[in-house]
Amino acid sequence: MRAALVLGTQLLARHPALEDDDVEALLLVESAALFDRLPYHQHKIVLVLSAMRHWAAEQEAAGRTVHHLPHAEGRGFADGVAHLVELHGIDGLAWMRAADRGVDRRIGRTAERAGIRTKRYADRAFLTPEPELDAWFRDHPKSRMEDFYRWQRQRTGILMEGEGPAGGQWNYDHDNREPLPKGGIDIPPLPRVEPDELTRQVIAEVRERWPDHPGDARDFWLPVTHEDSLAWLRAFVDERLHDFGRYEDAMAAEEPFLFHSVLTPMLNIGLLTPQDVVDAVLEATGDVPLPSLEGFVRQVIGWREYMRGMYRAHPELQGANALGLERELEDWWYTGEGLPDDLPIPVRTVLARVVQHGYAHHIERLMVLGNWFLQQGYAPASVNRWFLSLFVDAYEWVMVPNVFGMSQYADGGMVATKPYVSGGAYLQRMGRWWSGPKVAKESAFTEGYWDFLQRHEAVLEGNHRLARPLAQMRSRREPDQD
Ligand code: FAD
Repeated sequence: MRAALVLGTQLLARHPALEDDDVEALLLVESAALFDRLPYHQHKIVLVLSAMRHWAAEQEAAGRTVHHLPHAEGRGFADGVAHLVELHGIDGLAWMRAADRGVDRRIGRTAERAGIRTKRYADRAFLTPEPELDAWFRDHPKSRMEDFYRWQRQRTGILMEGEGPAGGQWNYDHDNREPLPKGGIDIPPLPRVEPDELTRQVIAEVRERWPDHPGDARDFWLPVTHEDSLAWLRAFVDERLHDFGRYEDAMAAEEPFLFHSVLTPMLNIGLLTPQDVVDAVLEATGDVPLPSLEGFVRQVIGWREYMRGMYRAHPELQGANALGLERELEDWWYTGEGLPDDLPIPVRTVLARVVQHGYAHHIERLMVLGNWFLQQGYAPASVNRWFLSLFVDAYEWVMVPNVFGMSQYADGGMVATKPYVSGGAYLQRMGRWWSGPKVAKESAFTEGYWDFLQRHEAVLEGNHRLARPLAQMRSRREPDQD
């Protein structure tokens, strides 16, 4: 009997195994050991387990044979696969290539030990076929995201008019940097998803099996089926895409989601594909301003695919530490309790949100959390572990380039052209975190910013994008010389 193994991050409506006539059964393995490895947020565990069970139930309802090993059996991942193979007399195993390094090798080894044939499908969870992606990174070793993005637009024809970009410009980023208006603005809430019986069961199991993990499983808030994920995507396109671009970099103490799509929890486990997302937003062009449309498309076909390419092309990113930072994150980062009194208000607020939802939007991840970690000298590996544990959408392939590269400058400037650090003034302009600009300027963020530049002056000196901040830092240090 030939079977296909379906990972909890590959729950595609069009998983290649479903189109393979040789496949007689689908295997799913819930491994408690995987979730024991780090203190994963309870919502992340509920999301993956509940989505797996819903996917399996859908396939069974469609008449397919599914062998699903629940985590309560207590088997690790490889052990679970080997067990199902033996139990069901499986003599051939197929699976879709995994995005995280090492997973394919582990499955391959398990199959080898069982002495069975193997077959791997191409990864359908991304837009760019692996050979093309890898070739692009090989041929453009020094290129930036913007080059990749233009290639991607040309390759796919997305937002193109003939040979050129729709509207005449490739990138409308300059129109996308507004704070929320002072008088306030209506932000449509995320759709409400009521947990069904299956999800309620998973919530109970997670509370019992992982009671000390961050978050409260009872507040679980995300879709776990294709149907609900598509409805969630449609709600974003209809209600929030219009203002996505304009307020993409905005922050607000009382607003965790703003106009962001909150799609990664579903995208990164296959409940949605980037093609679903692109199709939905392109159908909605009606009155959506081009800067919003282009800005959003850039994130999905540009940044997401680029980060995957970076991860594949640069295994050395993982573990990089160009600035030699060594501080470990304290335990309170995992619980949100017992925070130091002097923790600045933006960090305090965003951390509370992360503990509550397992989510923060991009600019909070980069300019509040990442900025603070970098200024305070936390080790990139410790930061990576924290993001991986606390965020509902965090997986190795996306965390490594975002944390070691974009956010913590641990790669010495491969992903980002300069470290994303700022003082309180920027945070105040984009998020009005403090009572006024003076308080913001005197905040620990500003102090940390100057200290950071001073501490790493020697490494950062050659970076022309930092020439001005470094000169300012020097004139503060040596006021008499200017
Ligand atoms: P939106 O703001 O609505 O953006 C739309 C889509 O663009 C996202 O759904 C995502 O698919 C894609 N996207 C945008 N930027 C990136 C990026 N830099 N890398 C990959 N995809 C991107 N993304 C994850 O998927 N998982 C993570 O664990 C993760 N951790 C991050 C940690 C740090 C320190 C930083 C700086 C970024 C991280 N990102 C991560 C990237 C980005 O912040 C998230 O993809 C985004 O915030 C998810 O929320 P959203 O779906 O509301 O995105």
